[in-house]
Amino acid sequence: MTRKKQFIVIGLGRFGGSVCRELVRMGHEVLVMDMDEHKVNEYANIATHAVVADATDEQSLRSLGVRNFDYVIVAIGENIQASILTTLLLKELQIKNVWVKAKNDYHHRVLTKIGADQVVHPEKDMGKRVAQQMADDKVIDY
Ligand code: ATP
Repeated sequence: MTRKKQFIVIGLGRFGGSVCRELVRMGHEVLVMDMDEHKVNEYANIATHAVVADATDEQSLRSLGVRNFDYVIVAIGENIQASILTTLLLKELQIKNVWVKAKNDYHHRVLTKIGADQVVHPEKDMGKRVAQQMADDKVIDY
């Protein structure tokens, strides 16, 4: 079993929610954060800690002690400005592993410039994986 790590998931849409559930299933510690109270309530019994907070607020990030976490994933989708600002603040707080979900290629390029450690495109990445799996699928031809 791999070492238990500490993660923060910011943004509890379908993607962030799925990341959280899988990390918890693997036995890791997960703090979830969303500015939407309903989303946070939904994850209160799943995640290790669940907080309502605006991730673009530097003071909130500091008071949550984000520096003590191994990995932070920014899973804010629609609001590109909030995603960029959150990533910038996390890198300024010297988080070593900041992974960010990007909405498009311009978003990706900005995230890379400001120091995101890993940028993911869930739909694009998954589409590629499904295509590969289909192409590799063993079709029995009678
Ligand atoms: P998905 O495709 O994963 O379902 P999405 O790409 O449509 O999600 P959004 O629904 O726009 O993404 O955002 C995901 C979550 O991020 C939402 O629950 C939203 O409340 C949260 N969020 C947006 N901005 C902030 C912020 N500044 N601080 C904390 N949470 C935020």
